[in-house]
Amino acid sequence: MRKSLVQDTLIAAAAVAAAAVLPLLPAAAQDGRDAVVAHVEAGGERYAAMAQQIWDWAEVGYQETRSSALLRDALAEAGFEVDEGVAGMPTAFVASWGAGSPVIGILAEYDALPGITQDRAPERAPRPDMGAGHACGHHLFGAGSVAAALAVKAWLEESGTPGTVRLYGTPAEEGGAGKVYMVRGGLFEDVDAVLHWHPGNANEASPSSSLANKSAKFRFHGVSAHAAGAPEQGRSALDGVEAMNHMVNLLREHVPQETRIHYVITAGGHAPNVIPDFAEVFYYVRNPDPELVKSIFERVARAAEGAAMGTGTRMEYEVVHGLFAMLPNETLQRRAQKNLERVGGVVYDDAERAFAEAIHATLQEDSPPLESAAEVQPYMPRAAGGSTDVADVSWVVPTVGMSAATWVPGTPAHSWQAIAAGGTSIGEKGMLVAAKTLAMTAVELFTDPDLVAAAIAERLERVGPDFEYVSLVGDRDPPLDYRNPPGAR
Ligand SMILES: [Zn+2]
Ligand SMILES: [Zn+2]
Repeated sequence: MRKSLVQDTLIAAAAVAAAAVLPLLPAAAQDGRDAVVAHVEAGGERYAAMAQQIWDWAEVGYQETRSSALLRDALAEAGFEVDEGVAGMPTAFVASWGAGSPVIGILAEYDALPGITQDRAPERAPRPDMGAGHACGHHLFGAGSVAAALAVKAWLEESGTPGTVRLYGTPAEEGGAGKVYMVRGGLFEDVDAVLHWHPGNANEASPSSSLANKSAKFRFHGVSAHAAGAPEQGRSALDGVEAMNHMVNLLREHVPQETRIHYVITAGGHAPNVIPDFAEVFYYVRNPDPELVKSIFERVARAAEGAAMGTGTRMEYEVVHGLFAMLPNETLQRRAQKNLERVGGVVYDDAERAFAEAIHATLQEDSPPLESAAEVQPYMPRAAGGSTDVADVSWVVPTVGMSAATWVPGTPAHSWQAIAAGGTSIGEKGMLVAAKTLAMTAVELFTDPDLVAAAIAERLERVGPDFEYVSLVGDRDPPLDYRNPPGAR
């Protein structure tokens, strides 16, 4: 069996990482790390309020108008130069402060997930008044990253350290691949390193990968007729979808083990007695290796063509998003781990503990204990099952990430339990753990040119000499309407 890309890159980098045992921190970094932690703490209540505001708005991909503006305004107010509407996306922005190199980027996300809502309660309590919820914690991701950027800016200014800190406002992470268009548009070309984080149910800064992913909406067009009175005159678009799904389900037996293929039927007709003239199925194809994703996706598209041929319908498809697999950078991850250990995890007060216990009782029995929220997980390379558009950034700039326990231990992403805890001080505390860790790691990058050089060398070694970034979305424009219901387009 072919080794996964993750294994290849982790092995290839082991030598680089072993060689990158770097000297003790310069005094400037030591002081700088204390300074940024103090800045994050001083703004803690304000950042928490920003996160809760974005939680309340719960805006979905490419519609994060207010959330994006809230973060932009906070940065502009602190003196950042803000470019809005970059790379053809109205809710994307780049905010910069400082001059010259190094240029250190910090990523922020702020989109919510449609169709899942929950109140700030430790038992299931949907919010019929909301169409979406922050089940992936991106409200914390956005506000926490802005907190880190503002702290770094304050320290750069007061210490007179040269360099540029840049906050990337990246919309539509959930299926809209906002970062892919920013990478494709060259917005990361002059950046030396990028920091990001993600809300989670544990504190960890281990190198982790993700699955490359390509998605598309397959649209079948048939002919309507009375399903009983004149069936011979109709051609069912839904038949096209069903035939395609059947073929793809057979195809599952003949793809590499780590492959994931999933779909939902987003349009399938309206009434059984009307042969549907339109049907649509939305597919994701994932594998750790972006090249394999491309080839498996082509086979899925061939199944769609065959289905249309056999059912007498017409098919066209639209690629919705395409993501690389995350490229770890151990040089930077080891630094982030050290900083995270210094910050420590999330310690609950009595009210938070009671809330967490109630949530914990709704999770699987083998969930980690509540106490683990206060711990930092050991450094250990991991492969992740999901996908993220951060991956595309990681192939063009050394990228370092971490997660913080913004959710009760054992909570899966995209769950009501994640929305609930993320809307409380548990989420806020986890967010500040991340903001401090990112800011401290940024201080090291600003004060240690050898660290930056080692990180860049590791990225170059992992991608190989012939690598040239070609996005999996091809030349399509950002799918600004991808969260609109079918038929609204
Ligand atoms: Zn998510
Ligand atoms: Zn997420």
